[in-house]
Amino acid sequence: MNQKNKTEISRRSFLQVTAGAIMLSGISLPESANAAKSEGLATIIDLSLCDGCVNRKIPACVSICKEINKNKIPLPVEPIPEPWPRKMIEDWSKKQEVFDRLTPYNFIYVHRAEVNFAGRKKTIYVPRRCMHCENPPCATICPFSANHKFKNGAVVINQNQCFGGAKCRDVCPWEIPQRQSGVGIYLHVLPGFMGNGVMYKCDLCFDRINQGQLPGCIEACPREALLIGAKKVIQAVALERVRRMKGYIYGMEQNGGTSTLYISPVPFEEINKTMTKKSGQPDIKMNVPRRMAGTDPLGKMVLAAPVLGLAAAGAAGAWKWFSRRKEKMNKKEGENG
Ligand code: SF4
Ligand code: SF4
Ligand code: SF4
Repeated sequence: MNQKNKTEISRRSFLQVTAGAIMLSGISLPESANAAKSEGLATIIDLSLCDGCVNRKIPACVSICKEINKNKIPLPVEPIPEPWPRKMIEDWSKKQEVFDRLTPYNFIYVHRAEVNFAGRKKTIYVPRRCMHCENPPCATICPFSANHKFKNGAVVINQNQCFGGAKCRDVCPWEIPQRQSGVGIYLHVLPGFMGNGVMYKCDLCFDRINQGQLPGCIEACPREALLIGAKKVIQAVALERVRRMKGYIYGMEQNGGTSTLYISPVPFEEINKTMTKKSGQPDIKMNVPRRMAGTDPLGKMVLAAPVLGLAAAGAAGAWKWFSRRKEKMNKKEGENG
């Protein structure tokens, strides 16, 4: 990490905990935060600080994310092949300026919640993106090993390896990954029979972190409502803030634990009442058992589907190729770690 970035990260991060009982020096992006090293990161989304950027056309976190990721998706082919047997094509390429939900072109959006709590009305803004779960079922289930949890905490979909089957979305408790059809490797294998595009979601600004920079949304937030740091420190800071505001925390237990901790002055049950779970607009329910944890029936069901699909498509060769890729990837991470 160069000195400028290091200083910048530390300066901004210090601001988060000025009056805290927590050791200030711990709140910075650790030098060992790059993907292959062991320092796990976590983030705080502090709903007591986020004001939804109401004075801007688009919230700062949303617009910077859009800017950073604007060249990720190539133009889809025309016409997009119809997948068999389900004919559903998901094409967002002509709706790139949608900001009020997750799409393949929009990895974060801000939900506005009008909450009634303790006899008072309160507006809470909730930025939503991938939670970067500790045991991400979206990665476990991927039949092509295209989705991976790195040691620094980021869960990243490899766009060159993803077939867009959307099993990751099916198994994600919040249905976070979003599909763009008509792009990706499936077009070169068996389009129409296997795959349907590429899945996209927040990657915790993986490349920026590797270069010692803060994730874009954290750097851009004018209210410093977002914070990143070493996981243990972040957890301690989150719990301390919750204690002081007599507030609530989300993400510590859900889906077996995540690397994203929401803290709020009002209960998440109340916030969740304002959310109708819709495609691309996840809810924030409290009870989220860990998916793909051995006994989870949904996980097993979703896991079975791609295996059968592959068999039907006679794709043994492709499977072999991906197994070799996985071995190589594991070896590479082992060497780097
Ligand atoms: S997290 Fe920050 S940038 Fe995003 S809406 Fe809230 S205040 Fe604005
Ligand atoms: S929130 Fe969903 S997409 Fe993100 S890591 Fe967890 S299971 Fe995967
Ligand atoms: S961490 Fe990066 S990719 Fe994820 S929401 Fe923030 S800016 Fe977007």
